[in-house]
Amino acid sequence: MGAAGCLNAIKSAVDAPEFEMNEKVKQKMSSDRQILISGAGPVGYATALNLALHGIPFTLFESGADIFEDPRAGTIHPPTLEMFEASGVTQAMLDEGYIVRNYHYRDRRDGIVADFHLEALKDETRHPYRVMLEQHKLSRILRDKLKGFGNHQILNEHRVARVVQDGDGVTAIVETPQGEKSFRGAYMIGCDGGRSQVRKSMNVKFDGFTYPERFLVLSTKYDFGAHGYAITNYIADPDEWCALFKVPGYDGKGLWRILFPAAHEASEAELFDEASIQKRISGFQTKDGPYDIYHRNLYEVHQRVASSYRDGRLLLAGDAAHINNPLGGMGMNFGLHDSFNLTDKLAKIWFEGASEDLLDLYDRQRRTVAQEFLQRQTIENKRNIEQKDPAEREKFYEDLRAITRDPEKLRVYLLRVAMIEGIRRSNSIT
Ligand SMILES: Cc1cc2nc3c(=O)[nH]c(=O)nc-3n(C[C@H](O)[C@H](O)[C@H](O)COP(=O)(O)OP(=O)(O)OC[C@H]3O[C@@H](n4cnc5c(N)ncnc54)[C@H](O)[C@@H]3O)c2cc1C
Repeated sequence: MGAAGCLNAIKSAVDAPEFEMNEKVKQKMSSDRQILISGAGPVGYATALNLALHGIPFTLFESGADIFEDPRAGTIHPPTLEMFEASGVTQAMLDEGYIVRNYHYRDRRDGIVADFHLEALKDETRHPYRVMLEQHKLSRILRDKLKGFGNHQILNEHRVARVVQDGDGVTAIVETPQGEKSFRGAYMIGCDGGRSQVRKSMNVKFDGFTYPERFLVLSTKYDFGAHGYAITNYIADPDEWCALFKVPGYDGKGLWRILFPAAHEASEAELFDEASIQKRISGFQTKDGPYDIYHRNLYEVHQRVASSYRDGRLLLAGDAAHINNPLGGMGMNFGLHDSFNLTDKLAKIWFEGASEDLLDLYDRQRRTVAQEFLQRQTIENKRNIEQKDPAEREKFYEDLRAITRDPEKLRVYLLRVAMIEGIRRSNSIT
């Protein structure tokens, strides 16, 4: 069925309570084909745009009233820039974001350990750099691109409460300001984050672990670049490691984010206390007078992967499918890669009559690399940055120095941390 045949699909909201629909209504809804998406974060919006580009009608539900602006993802890796080229999203990200051609691995006391230049990837990707752009700005770019397409609706303040499936499709029960409604679709994609309701409606587990400490994110306009820091810095320390990044911020002139570990026994009030924040940030870099602080946010950090990304017509992508610590800037990128993989397969099923077995292939490809690559790399990144054993720490630093001295080792290392290896591995799974 082509897109033109689905024009009325998105009018299928029904105010009837769950399971009280008469057969006629149910029949009509079953024949109306669209895809439902739960969650309008970056992965939900990317999934929406990908479906729109393929010509597949959809409804996107978001529990919030607008795009959240908390300081989470800021790093966009080369494969993501390649994937978004055709839609013009990459150009928009390059226009708004900062291009990062090198980044530092540092020791908090002794300074630069290794300076990684992504130019070493010039024969591997059209974008041998990272882009720094806040995730809410990417979401906005995606939402703006969607304005050029018909055949869809985006419903804010619509919280997916649960989803049930039958032989013909799925029924989502959605809480709205006007009360509960049911929506029908051929598939439901859960892009609704770590606490995904879609995942909870599926027969899957979300095994893994939660770190005892939380991550504290502070932001300031103070220019750390004047002290020799790169736009991206990972700063190892046995007592208080940190990560320091510059994102464009409110005016495009820059906002520096610092991410510190926060002791699990400390209360939010203690961690957010102005004096304690000033002490912590000045302990990292002293300056005359207090820092101007724009964000103080606290995140619980987990390492978990869903036991399957597919249960019949219910599918998972992004944080709903896998969550990890942010060191390396990979979680959102990985979720966006899920989205491209999944929507390409859905388009083959939708328009070419391909087998739904493709959805199992999606699960195999993306879940395998989430385990082998995303989880392994981010767990390793945290272990290295907080290494307490001086001999282990020195060995790790020596490995990093050796990588930067040897062009082949550097290429191989950067292929992994720039997420190119993960994509190649995913595509190799049949
Ligand atoms: C401090 C920090 C820094 C990070 N830095 C990076 C980075 O540099 N690079 C990177 O790649 N990743 C990074 N990440 C990870 C990144 O933020 C996440 O991977 C990303 O937000 C996942 O996007 P998502 O769309 O899957 O989920 P989310 O961003 O969590 O979006 C889910 C959406 O679903 C909505 N929702 C939830 N439940 C429902 C429901 N029942 N019904 C309807 N809507 C619902 C939510 O309101 C939300 O809008 C970082 C994370 C943290 C905490």
